[in-house]
Amino acid sequence: MGWLSDDGHEGWADPLPGGWRGRCDCGWVGPSHPTYPAPKDGDDAPDAVAAAIREQWAGHLTPATLRAVQEAAAAAKAATERLEEAVRAARADDRSWADIGAAVGITRQTAHERWAKACG
Ligand SMILES: [Zn+2]
Repeated sequence: MGWLSDDGHEGWADPLPGGWRGRCDCGWVGPSHPTYPAPKDGDDAPDAVAAAIREQWAGHLTPATLRAVQEAAAAAKAATERLEEAVRAARADDRSWADIGAAVGITRQTAHERWAKACG
């Protein structure tokens, strides 16, 4: 018995000496849920306990909307780095700040202010 999130976390209810707790392959461990009788080898968690543990497990996952923000921020950072590298290459190729600015749609002065430090 286990649960798989759409971003690859795999969780399950793990038997303890006197009950159950949730675990995830990312290292997350939930609070214990004491049960009587205690779990025996091969037991599945009682349905109500499994449902409570699954809800706690779901709570440690990053919501899809925030994952989308994280992914977009990472893409924006990568694009910024790629643009700086392209500007450095253009400067190394003796392209003027005016030509670089025109390629981006900004003025020579703005291009210089934005990238002069990055280009050394
Ligand atoms: Zn996890």
